[in-house]
Amino acid sequence: MNVPFLDLKAQYETIRDEIAEALNAVLESGAFAGGPFVEKFEREFASFCECEHAVGVNSGTTALWLALQGLGVGPGDEVITVPNTFIATAEAISLTGARPVFVDVDEGAYTMDPAFLEGAITPATRAIIPVHLYGQPADMDPILAIARRHGLLVIEDACQAHGARYKGKSVGSLGDAGCFSFYPGKNLGAYGEGGAVVTKHRSLADTVRMLRDHGQSQKYYHSLIGINARMDGIQGAVLSVKLKHLPAWNAARRWNADLYNRLLADCPVITPPYEPDYAEHVYHLYVVRTPNRDALMAALKDQGVHCGIHYPLPIHRQKAYESLDLPLGQYPVAEASAAEVLSLPMYAELTQEQINLVVHKMRTTSAGMLAPVGCASAV
Ligand SMILES: *Cc1c(COP(=O)(O)O)cnc(C)c1O
Repeated sequence: MNVPFLDLKAQYETIRDEIAEALNAVLESGAFAGGPFVEKFEREFASFCECEHAVGVNSGTTALWLALQGLGVGPGDEVITVPNTFIATAEAISLTGARPVFVDVDEGAYTMDPAFLEGAITPATRAIIPVHLYGQPADMDPILAIARRHGLLVIEDACQAHGARYKGKSVGSLGDAGCFSFYPGKNLGAYGEGGAVVTKHRSLADTVRMLRDHGQSQKYYHSLIGINARMDGIQGAVLSVKLKHLPAWNAARRWNADLYNRLLADCPVITPPYEPDYAEHVYHLYVVRTPNRDALMAALKDQGVHCGIHYPLPIHRQKAYESLDLPLGQYPVAEASAAEVLSLPMYAELTQEQINLVVHKMRTTSAGMLAPVGCASAV
């Protein structure tokens, strides 16, 4: 038996008829670029996020970029984020002309460590972007308190965390804006590209609506220099269908994570993910930590178990950001985790049998590599 890292087809098979109907409605209406299917999804997604407004765009990267731009972030500004995220978080900052500034993350949760924030704030700082990494909310209360004290904006990168909760509240609704990606592999994935900005600020929603559509306030009358970043009608219709299933899919991911946790609990070379009391994690990724990660991942692949690494190189060590001149050793928690994190297969349709197999192969393989401290004896 093979265990893929992700199986989009398994999910599609459960919603095939609903999707066919939704696609057909778009084809019959001709509403392909923006339009009523996108507007319907925006209303539903705003309500799902417990936010007044949602604006659909063409990717999560664009959502972050237009949210920053809509909040007035630009050249000369600094925006604080974390180095252990997908490159898009930093790219969106750079695309506005602002400079990304990094702070290290919490050892157990891998999200922004609020203890480092005040040390990173300068007179040029305008905003903070905490990342709800892997589906786990960052510790928002201290981040929001520091932001308030210094007059800074907070933009949540919730691209991996649709439906995650912080102290009972939906992520995306906590700061000035929340940005989501509907890349096919995300917990809520389009059949193509997509993204959204959610916000409680009507003025920001209006500005992002204009920016995504060439800065138009009225057709062919352009108040701002924008871009074409509209969401496709087809994606709006697909996302409306899938949003109805998202709570059940997230619950299945949490159930799968719980099973992994129990099966891996007594394994000394594998550290399962940690979920703080404030968090309801939605396990976009189920990430363990283990020494000898690369060898373990390769050996698992040979046995048909496909894992991932999120992410192998922190942003401050990427060639694209060498001009920031941030040396190795600057963010020790993020750097050490990059060498040891391993993402196991995770999706709602993963079966108990598949999870048992992944854990069995991990136990036998890691024990063979690391004897005598391995854990095969527990199998
Ligand atoms: C996926 C992702 C993005 C970017 O989303 P796209 O839709 O791929 O542009 C941004 N930030 C994080 C943390 C992501 O995982």
